[in-house]
Amino acid sequence: MTSNHDVVIPTLDIRGDRIADDIAGFAALSESGPGVTRLAYSPLEREAHRIFSDRMQKLGLSVHTDAAGNTIAELAPTEPETDGRIIGTGSHLDSVPHGGRFDGIAGVVAAMEVARAVVRGGGARRRRWRFVVFAAEEGARFGQACNGSRMVAGLTRSAELDSLVDAAGVSMAVAMREVGLDPAAIASSRWNSDEWLGFIELHIEQGAVLESREIEVGVVDVISGSTRLLVTVRGQASHTGGTPMHLRRDALVTASECVLASDRIANNPEHHGTRVTVGRIEVRPGSITTIPGWAEFSVDIRDVDSDRQRRTAEELVAEFERIASRRNTDLDVELMGDTSPVVLPVWVADHIVAAAAELGMRYRILPSGASHDSQQVNRIAPTGMIFVPSRDGLSHVPEEFTSVEQIAAGTRVLLAALMRLDASV
Ligand SMILES: [Zn+2]
Repeated sequence: MTSNHDVVIPTLDIRGDRIADDIAGFAALSESGPGVTRLAYSPLEREAHRIFSDRMQKLGLSVHTDAAGNTIAELAPTEPETDGRIIGTGSHLDSVPHGGRFDGIAGVVAAMEVARAVVRGGGARRRRWRFVVFAAEEGARFGQACNGSRMVAGLTRSAELDSLVDAAGVSMAVAMREVGLDPAAIASSRWNSDEWLGFIELHIEQGAVLESREIEVGVVDVISGSTRLLVTVRGQASHTGGTPMHLRRDALVTASECVLASDRIANNPEHHGTRVTVGRIEVRPGSITTIPGWAEFSVDIRDVDSDRQRRTAEELVAEFERIASRRNTDLDVELMGDTSPVVLPVWVADHIVAAAAELGMRYRILPSGASHDSQQVNRIAPTGMIFVPSRDGLSHVPEEFTSVEQIAAGTRVLLAALMRLDASV
């Protein structure tokens, strides 16, 4: 892949005040409680998509929402098209419970500002540009992440949407219907790879590498994969006073030992780079004076090495089974989600690096520990990712923070990289 040398570095106006307004506007769409709660396929997520859609329509872009709930705004070229292939950018607008204002949103407001800059600032474009908000990126509600982008990549079938269920027992299919989407029609949201030249997502780093080294942008080379398990332990609920210790079948004690085993295995030197987390545990009946007869916990396994990721999952399950049988409890493991690590194409990263260098910004190549829509999109369109710094590396918490200036700097790199893609043949 080569690029023209007459790429004009856009001096187009990227404005922090507009970015700040957009961030504040989306942050206001939240359930009550600390931080931002705007869950996948909830009315609040749909409202956020509607705001994006309105803004893009007012700019003159043509906008539609597909059956998966992804909202896509398209800007026509100003010149005769090079070869008909499209370029795109975007991210997501849903959040985890009590998350921050920037995860996903930074990439959407960057896309919106790029759209405003090119529409108002002029400049020749020879390709169609698509600005995309993916639906239901966070796996917090249904266990599986990157749902809208998976559907775009043809990785999820309609039949699977009944078996992905949230904590309240609502399936993804039902949640989608409740917000006016059609789970039976998700195949129609699939993208055609022949149409696409490239895609670039801006996202907050969700780690502390950039901040600690005072680097303005990260260029992602590989995105971690994740395997998610739901583990149910069944013992016997009984009176805490009447049941001697040696006769107990305490589901929480088994679960606790599994949590510690997860931590131990992930910290084993041969797992350097593996991350294992038990982030949710539920105990029943949940009474001070009753032995827990039932416990259920989630296990999230992340790795940049695909084989090791699956091997870790197998190792954990085998260890959980040993623990459960030693403690005379029953164990049931369900695979909630499984996504491979992805190496992003170097030529797209090269455009981002060149853009950052032209703008005089400090950059660094780094892996992504979190999963992203880019992982799925890359199956259809060669994809790059730009990271902007996260204060103290924090994310998925109300303290999540990236300054408007930092997002604006990343957005300038995004725009310049998109211009390079636009000019490439
Ligand atoms: Zn995100």
